[in-house]
Amino acid sequence: MTTSQDPAGAPEEFDDEFASSPMLSHAPKSRFPSAENDPRQIYQFVHDELMLDGVARMNLATFCTTWVEPEVRQLMSDSIDKNIVDKDEYPQTAELETRCVSMLAELFHAPSPTATLGTSTTGSSEAAMLSGLAAKWRWRKQRAALGKDVSRPNFVCGPVQVCWEKFGRYFDVEIRQVPMGPGHVMTPDEAIARCDENTIAVVATFGQTFTGKFEDVEGISRALDDLQGRTGLDIPIHVDAASGAFVAPFCAPQLCWDFRLPRVKSINASGHKTGLAPLGSGWAIWREKEDLPEELIFDVNYLGGQMPSFNLNFSRPGGQVVCSYYNFFRLGRQGYTKVQSATYAVARHLARGVADIEEFEILFDADPLRGIPAITWTLADRDAPYSLFDVAEELRTRGWLVPAYTLPPGQQDVAVQRIIVRHGLSLDMADMVLADIVQAVAKLAARPPARKLVAAEAPSFNHDAVPVVPDSMV
Ligand SMILES: *Cc1c(COP(=O)(O)O)cnc(C)c1O
Repeated sequence: MTTSQDPAGAPEEFDDEFASSPMLSHAPKSRFPSAENDPRQIYQFVHDELMLDGVARMNLATFCTTWVEPEVRQLMSDSIDKNIVDKDEYPQTAELETRCVSMLAELFHAPSPTATLGTSTTGSSEAAMLSGLAAKWRWRKQRAALGKDVSRPNFVCGPVQVCWEKFGRYFDVEIRQVPMGPGHVMTPDEAIARCDENTIAVVATFGQTFTGKFEDVEGISRALDDLQGRTGLDIPIHVDAASGAFVAPFCAPQLCWDFRLPRVKSINASGHKTGLAPLGSGWAIWREKEDLPEELIFDVNYLGGQMPSFNLNFSRPGGQVVCSYYNFFRLGRQGYTKVQSATYAVARHLARGVADIEEFEILFDADPLRGIPAITWTLADRDAPYSLFDVAEELRTRGWLVPAYTLPPGQQDVAVQRIIVRHGLSLDMADMVLADIVQAVAKLAARPPARKLVAAEAPSFNHDAVPVVPDSMV
C-alpha cells in the first residue's frame, strides 16, 4: 500500500504516523523483511504490539522486579554497551561486581567475606547450576581420592523450582525429591532418609515457589550433623535463597539459614527478585574460596588481560551488576529493611483480607519468620460451584494475574492461588485487588459456570507453563 501523495507534494516523512506505509501493512512474521523502514514508525509499530503484554505491576504471579527508580533506568541505559565478561575493557564494572560479592558474603555471614568467591549470574537458575556443579566436583574429588565410585551422584531436595530439575538432567545428577507433605516443606527427617555416600548436597529452599514458605535450613543442618555423627557422612548444604536472601537478613535477622551454619557451602540469590535489581541479575556465593573447585574457573586472555570466568554464558550485560551496586549503596541495610518491611506490611494486610473471605483457607500468610512476602490460599469449600482457576480467570478480566495451580506430588490434589507482594505494590493497590477478589467470588458463587474445573482435571502445575499465566511463575 502506498502512502498518500498530497497535491503540494509534501515529503513522506511528514506523513501522519498512522497514515504511513508500515502502519497500513501487516506485521512481518515469517520472512526476513527486504527493505528498510523509518525507525520512528517501526518503534510505534512494535510499541503498539506490546500493549497486549499486560501491566507488569499487576502481575502478582511473578517474583521478579517490576518497579525501579528512575536512576536505575538511567544506569541501565548508561551501561547498555558494557559486557561484564570483558573485565579488561570495563575494569570498573568488574570492580563493582567484586564489591557486590563481598557485600553479599558479609550479609550472609561468610567467615571471610572479602576472601571468598562468588559471581554474578543471569539469575538464580544459572547460580543454582554453578553451585550444583561445584558440589558435584567437590564430592567427586573426595571420592576419587579414596578410590571410590564416582558414577552415581545424587542430591536431595524438597519441592523445588524447576531449575533444580534442570540441573539434575543437564548435568547428570540424580534428583531425590521429598514429596510435599502437609507442612509443604521438606522436613529434616525426610531429607536425611534419602542421603547416602553419593549425595553431593542437600538443597534447601529458602522461600519456596509453591507456598512462599522457608525450609528449615537450621533443622536440616542439625540433622546432617547427627547423620555425620552416626555414619561419618559429611554432606554439605546448598541454600536456594532465590527470594529469601534479600528479605530475611533485613526482616528476620534472627533466622539462621546462611553461612552461620558451617554446613552451608553455597547460596544462590536472585538479584532481580527481592534484590530489587532489573531482570537478568543473580548471585552465587561460596562460603570459602576452597568451596569453589578451581578446575571450574577458566582464565581467558583473548579479550586482552587475564580474566577468570565461571559462568555458563560468556558475554552478558553489565547493567544489572551496576544497578545492584547502586541499590546496595543507595538503600543500605536501613533502606532494604524499610522496603521489605513495607512489602511484608502490604502482604499481611492482603493476607488478612483473603482470610476474611469465607470460602478461602489461608495456607501461608506472609509471616516474615516463616517465609517471603507471599500469600497462598486454597478453596475451603470443596463443593463450591467454581474453582480457583475460575477466580484467576475473573481477576484477569480486571488485568490482575493471580495464578491458580495444583501443588506438586504429595499434595497434588490441592489447588491453590498465590500472590507475591513486591516492591511497588501499595496498600491502595492491595485494596483494589482484594475488592476484585471479593467481587469475583461473589459473582462466581451467584452465577456458576457451565463447566466446573476441578483440580484433578486442571493442567498440573509446571513452572514454565502455568495455565493461567504462562511464563510468569518464576
Ligand atoms: C525464581 C526461583 C529460581 C529461579 O530463579 P531465576 O532467577 O528466575 O533464574 C530458583 N529457585 C527459587 C526458589 C526461585 O524462587
